[in-house]
Amino acid sequence: MKRSRKLYVHEEVNEGKISSLDDLHVEYRRYLQACIDAMLAAHRTIISRKDLLDFFPPESVLSTNIVAACQQHAVAIVSGWAISRYTNHVKKAIQRFAREDVIDEPTKIQLFTIGKYNLDKPTKTISQEALDLYWTLLLDAGKAPTVSSRVGIRTSIHTSDLRLNEDTSLTPWWLGFSGLAKGKRTWLPLKANPFVKSPKDVTKGCLLKRDRKGRWRVEVVETKEYEVPDPLPDAPRLGMDVGLNVIAATSDGRLFGEAVKSKFDVLYGKMRSTRANRQRQGLKENSARLDSLEDRLSGFIKTVTGTIANDLIKSHPAHVFVLEDLDLRGCRGQKRFAYRALHRALSMRTLTIAINAAYTSQMCPSCGYVSRGNRTGVRFICRSCGRKSHADVVGGINVLGRSEDTHVGLDDHPSEVKALLRERYRARRRDSSSREPEVTALLACSRRLTTRGSPSGDTRTALNAYGISRAVPPLGGHP
Ligand SMILES: [Zn+2]
Repeated sequence: MKRSRKLYVHEEVNEGKISSLDDLHVEYRRYLQACIDAMLAAHRTIISRKDLLDFFPPESVLSTNIVAACQQHAVAIVSGWAISRYTNHVKKAIQRFAREDVIDEPTKIQLFTIGKYNLDKPTKTISQEALDLYWTLLLDAGKAPTVSSRVGIRTSIHTSDLRLNEDTSLTPWWLGFSGLAKGKRTWLPLKANPFVKSPKDVTKGCLLKRDRKGRWRVEVVETKEYEVPDPLPDAPRLGMDVGLNVIAATSDGRLFGEAVKSKFDVLYGKMRSTRANRQRQGLKENSARLDSLEDRLSGFIKTVTGTIANDLIKSHPAHVFVLEDLDLRGCRGQKRFAYRALHRALSMRTLTIAINAAYTSQMCPSCGYVSRGNRTGVRFICRSCGRKSHADVVGGINVLGRSEDTHVGLDDHPSEVKALLRERYRARRRDSSSREPEVTALLACSRRLTTRGSPSGDTRTALNAYGISRAVPPLGGHP
């Protein structure tokens, strides 16, 4: 389990140290942008570690170690940008072009493969033409990554050192970092964070950045292992759906967070409309009001999901929790928000497994019929068999069912899953319709019997086996 922890720079820091940090930030961002531009110009999304120095432009102001950290930072930014562009824009563009016959089937498959595996070099199956076309779509889909002042300085084991020194009077926490003056370390005093007990609990290397209020802080990654109880081999499972209508719905029919959902929606709506307004008016992205709204929302959701996770673990001891493996890069908005928080709260304290969530919200758990039309808001009514239920509970039941389905893999494409589910549904229908001639014969037989008296025991059993006892006219009802 990894968690990001923040340590703020102490208020009583010497001004000179802050200005040397600021100077480093300016040069770091300049070189970072140059590296990003070099990658975009060469149409590369990944550069292996050994090729870094040969690929990127030379640099004279920053030290070799800072340069190395900066180059890796650029690779992380560009590959993250490419992945999210693919999920949010390029994928849809490829689908549209394929529908309109702008591209042929082999090209479509190549483009999808490039995007899915984030490829940037031709292979046996991927041609240079396909890569060029892919990059046209990628750069067309939105603006290229730019390094704003909000982007921090990434440090490595060679360029920073977090230490705990109880002997100093201002604070026991210090971060040494290499600035522009080569061979010299600047020591920044940090305010303690109650969650970070020792520098040993965090990975080496950190991110130095200014927060929205302009305060410098150090972000470290904590790698402490949490105690997760070992489940019994046949531990019962509980399916969970992170819903749009409630925070969580379980496969045993319980709903969590129904009452807080409206408050969450109000806060979320406010934040979205404030952000949209600012965008429309061409104002810069963040403002004090927006920051405070975001803080309130994330604080609220953390508290709520923490409480829900506690309730769930208490009410279902020794259970394994089955959760959707939402592709978070593709999933936006409130579901993503709630999902992340709940997933984190649960996985820290209990065992969870992730499943492929394709169509778990649209499928009828009784007959297997898949349709978007099965659900309207919180109501789930199966268009095929008429099963009625709360839409999110259906999601929870299907999530649980999926965890026992050995034919659906975690990485299977939704279209494959849909084809499999459709085929299963059809097979089930065929099974029942192939029995129809027998059913008709039995019905006729039963009618004959009912005119005389009551059906014999054998006939009754046969009819019950087909579940048609109610279709038979009432006893003695006909002359
Ligand atoms: Zn159904």
